[in-house]
This record gives sequence, C-alpha cells and structure tokens, in this order.
Amino acid sequence: MTINNRTRKLLWGYSGNRCAYCKRELIMDATTQDDESVVGDECHIVSDKSNGPRYNPEFLIDEIDSYPNLILLCRIDHKMVDDQSEKFTADFLRGLKAKHTRWVAETLELATFLKNLPVTKSIEAAFLKVKSSMPELIAEMKKDLTKEGKDLIREFFIVSKRWALNAVDHYFVYYFEEHENLQGKVHVLENYGFVIDVTSKNVNKYRMTEEFIDLLLTS
Ligand SMILES: [Zn+2]
Repeated sequence: MTINNRTRKLLWGYSGNRCAYCKRELIMDATTQDDESVVGDECHIVSDKSNGPRYNPEFLIDEIDSYPNLILLCRIDHKMVDDQSEKFTADFLRGLKAKHTRWVAETLELATFLKNLPVTKSIEAAFLKVKSSMPELIAEMKKDLTKEGKDLIREFFIVSKRWALNAVDHYFVYYFEEHENLQGKVHVLENYGFVIDVTSKNVNKYRMTEEFIDLLLTS
C-alpha cells in the first residue's frame, strides 16, 4: 500500500495543509531549535483491510491509494474517524473533504483578491465596512476629533460608567453602556490596523492611527 508522490501533492495542496475536520495547520513551522513538524495523516476513507474502518469488499483495490479515497486529517481526528467509523461513514468523509477543499479554494481566492486590490482602495473599503458595522461609534469618534482643541488627541479609553476614571482631559472615552459590544468593535478596529492597543494598568487604552483619523474626518 503506497500513496504516490503526485497523489500526496494533490492531497496536501487541495487541503491547504489543514485538517479537513478541525482545520488546524498540519505542518508546524520550524523554530530556531527545531525543524518543522508534520502532524497530519493521509487517511484512507475506505480501508483495504477487512477489519479496517469503512471497509467495503466492492471497493476496487486499485483505488485504495488514489486521491478520491484519501482525506487529510490531524492525528486526533484521524483516530476519531477510524474509531467511530459508524458515525464517520465514507460518504460523510467524502462530503467533509469536498467542503474543506472548497473552503480552501475560496479562502485563497479571497486572499488573492485582497492582495491585488490597490492599497488605498482596500483601506477605504475596510473603513466603509467598519463604518457600516458600527456607525454610532465611528460618528462619536469623528465628533470628538472635530471638537475645539481636541484635534491632536489620539488615545482613548474604553470603560464602564461605573468605574472612576481620573484625568481624562487628553484622552477620549467611550463607554460600554453606550456602545453594545464595545470591546468587540474596538478589536475589529484593531484587526484592521485602525487602532493600536496601548493598554496599561488594566484599563483598556487604544491609539488611533493617522490613517484612521484621515478616513474619519473625510467620511
Ligand atoms: Zn483535526
């Protein structure tokens, strides 16, 4: 029983090096001390052993090691699907693999699309997306920046009204009570690179980037 190199390449490539079940990456990057580690298994959907998982006497022996009969899984999920082969039937695994390879293709397509967008366009698109998902917060930030004498303020706190907060003259403050899921919204801003986490002493503090401020003020 051997899987040839071409089949192996197809399997790893179409799976995006990820487990079809939990989607974890199956090759751990090398560290300064160690080489990369392969933690994935090339699993047979239909076993060729009569006591093996999902064995089917009608399945052609020549097809055992072919791409359609293989699925890439992490060690844990490989053991699970083989131990519980009544639940994880051949059809289930084929469906799982098809869904996973589609997910990989779509994810790569999206990544390529975003990479090829002109930089300014993608930043503006990201800002518009953010603005539509949290219009009140964006409007309040814009209003704060246009207040007299506040145009050079960059940092803000996110707090509860129940907490006593001293000396906030040089900062903006946004309250959990006024913005639903405020922490989540700020995390989104952070993920887009619009704000930077500068938290100190357990109070959530963030700094707006100049790019973000330009977009806010011209929006
Ligand atoms: Zn897994």
